[in-house]
Amino acid sequence: GLQGRTALITGSTSGIGAAIAEKMAAAGANVVLNGFGDAGEIEGQRSALERDHAIRAIYINKDLSSGSECRALVAEAAAQLAPPDILVNNAGIQHVAAIDEFPPEKWDAIIAINLTSAFHTIAAALPAMKDAGWGRIINIASAQGLVGSPFKSAYNAAKHGIIGMTKSVALEVARTKITVNAICPGYVRTPLVEGQVADQAKAHDMSEEEVIEKVILDAQPNKEFVEPGQLGDFAVFLCTEAGSSFTGAALPMDGGWTAR
Ligand code: NAD
Repeated sequence: GLQGRTALITGSTSGIGAAIAEKMAAAGANVVLNGFGDAGEIEGQRSALERDHAIRAIYINKDLSSGSECRALVAEAAAQLAPPDILVNNAGIQHVAAIDEFPPEKWDAIIAINLTSAFHTIAAALPAMKDAGWGRIINIASAQGLVGSPFKSAYNAAKHGIIGMTKSVALEVARTKITVNAICPGYVRTPLVEGQVADQAKAHDMSEEEVIEKVILDAQPNKEFVEPGQLGDFAVFLCTEAGSSFTGAALPMDGGWTAR
């Protein structure tokens, strides 16, 4: 179990991050939530984690497009709970457009939230991990960090970038008991993707099943979504002793997408 550990998961008020927080809590870790959303719903999520898993959970509201807020997130987690010994960089956004029409401010936001935020949180969290002699850094990249897709230049750049940073930092700390890995999911069933399925069904005059098969999961050979809870279980595994030899790795969890 992860009893006594403190896991900070960025962007954990929704989707994959929320599932990772749930699995970390179920494994016994105390949890720091972060992300946007309705204050009442976030408090419901936080209190349910404490009630269901007999751990401590706190929520810290920071906008990770700002480097100073990223560093403040780690500092406030340490002050209010404990220095994170598990850091999951998960917060992310997407924008889909041709590069010659890509709004520069969307490029900047994607690079800031999906890539640069992890630079700041890692820089802020690593000293305490080194002092403790143990740590786990898990970056949620994407299959889009290993291969490209048209109209996703910023997202592809950020996700390839975070895999590069993962390798570099893993080598920097290789002689410590700190591991640094990237998980590269294919399509995951999150509220974001569920919304896309409904929209595409209307746009293409297809059933939702057809959209999933022909549009969304065209890239994913097993034709199945990755479930958020599977990502949570895998993140917990990387935090166990059995996971300690994984470091500097970009680990696909994509139903065969990047095998082609
Ligand atoms: P989501 O939209 O459900 O959740 C994103 C989370 O990030 C939310 O909690 C949101 O509030 C938070 N967030 C966004 N901008 C933020 C900011 N500026 N500061 C702080 N928090 C912010 O998305 P998701 O599908 O769960 O995606 C989570 C991660 O997984 C992202 O990095 C995404 O790129 C990656 N990913 C998703 C899929 C997929 O198919 N859904 C596939 C591969 C990788």
